[in-house]
Amino acid sequence: MKKKFKIGIVGAGIQGVCNALFLQKKGHQVTIFDKDDPARISASYGNAGHFSPYASLSLNRPDILTDVPAMLLRSTGPLALKWNYVPKMIPWFLKFIINCSKKKMMHTAKYMHQILDIAIPAYDELFEEVDISGLVDKKGIMYVWNKQNLSSREIEINIRKELGVKQKVLTPEEIHDLEPNIKPFYHGGVYYSNARHTRNPKKILLKLLDHFIEKGGKLLKLNIRDINFDNENPVLISDSQRFIFEKIIIACGAFSKQLTDKLNEKIPLDTERGYHVHFKGCDHLISRPVVFLNRGFGMTPMEQGLRVVGTVEFGGLNNPISKSRIKNLVNGANYMLNGLPEHQDEWLGFRPTLPDFLPVIGPSINYKNVFYSFGHNHLGWTLAAISGKIISKMISDENTNLDLEPYNPKRFS
Ligand SMILES: Cc1cc2nc3c(=O)[nH]c(=O)nc-3n(C[C@H](O)[C@H](O)[C@H](O)COP(=O)(O)OP(=O)(O)OC[C@H]3O[C@@H](n4cnc5c(N)ncnc54)[C@H](O)[C@@H]3O)c2cc1C
Repeated sequence: MKKKFKIGIVGAGIQGVCNALFLQKKGHQVTIFDKDDPARISASYGNAGHFSPYASLSLNRPDILTDVPAMLLRSTGPLALKWNYVPKMIPWFLKFIINCSKKKMMHTAKYMHQILDIAIPAYDELFEEVDISGLVDKKGIMYVWNKQNLSSREIEINIRKELGVKQKVLTPEEIHDLEPNIKPFYHGGVYYSNARHTRNPKKILLKLLDHFIEKGGKLLKLNIRDINFDNENPVLISDSQRFIFEKIIIACGAFSKQLTDKLNEKIPLDTERGYHVHFKGCDHLISRPVVFLNRGFGMTPMEQGLRVVGTVEFGGLNNPISKSRIKNLVNGANYMLNGLPEHQDEWLGFRPTLPDFLPVIGPSINYKNVFYSFGHNHLGWTLAAISGKIISKMISDENTNLDLEPYNPKRFS
């Protein structure tokens, strides 16, 4: 019989919780630590709720690189900078630029596709055990665009075709038929019929967490500030206590670097900040998530109302919320729909992003009993179950039949 381990997970975001559930399925004894109430403000609470198996193509692309200056200059653009953070982020930007070649773009697309393609079946393994009725809609996801940068749209469609991603390119008439309330500003679009969305990411996370606790898992509200070792056993250290485990997993999203730095593993994780607002009582205006690609945001019908969510801001973890980004989302929503009321609930969240836009899933560089599951950028919600499944197999010494080297943190050393 295979050995069962005592495992500590730092982070009760969707990554930590899905890791915990797959490890429990294999009989391991798991404790999760979080410094906050789970899904109160984390990325796993405020995201767009998309399960996006189609999203293999990331932002490290030659065409995006040339478009960046124009994107930054447009007030309606998808990108923004907090200038005080730019000097700190220069090493990350330099690595990002190296990863924007066509070859690197295709490497990222291939290995995102490898795990995205099996992401939804991995979730279904967890959802079999939890009542999620009314929380996951299977109505697909639609992207629309205007006449700007049409060559980029062509590249995206062709690469997805090459990878075998299921997509239907839409005419303006077909867009109108799917979502008649969207104003007809669009030039074209694409529909991903096998994508899903959740009407409440927070509720799903808390249901998964309750299930973990019902099955004997432990959740401790503690800030883990350091990691030590007792022989080879990792020790998680909070302000006043020490916890010894046989294996640990760092799954703190954008905050993971604070712990990997303590282990002296220089992983270039940073954050792409993103925002949301809600328009209460307006979720009936669309039937499925609609993303306005040129402006880098989308709208998702949720229990909280219509969630208008997205854009990318480089500015680290400590800068305050940018009112101009909120305004950008509100203006964008009014550009797409008529008759919206005042918005509510301004939220800022942190996407955890590596400069090659691949996540880190696997063992630490130097410590065989330390594992990582972070850095899933725009796709951490979609990729949580599959990442947890992969780590549970690694720890249980089982084969995954996947090429896992591209997700190994060694790629940065
Ligand atoms: C605007 C926006 C929209 C998005 N939309 C989507 C989408 O539609 N689909 C999709 O797939 N992805 C989406 N994402 C990305 C996705 O939300 C994230 O990649 C994902 O939620 C990250 O999950 P996580 O568990 O790694 O981190 P988090 O959700 O950030 O959770 C990390 C947890 O670790 C805890 N923590 C941190 N440090 C410590 C410590 N030292 N000790 C103890 N606890 C600690 C935190 O309190 C937190 O609870 C979006 C992100 C944003 C910002």
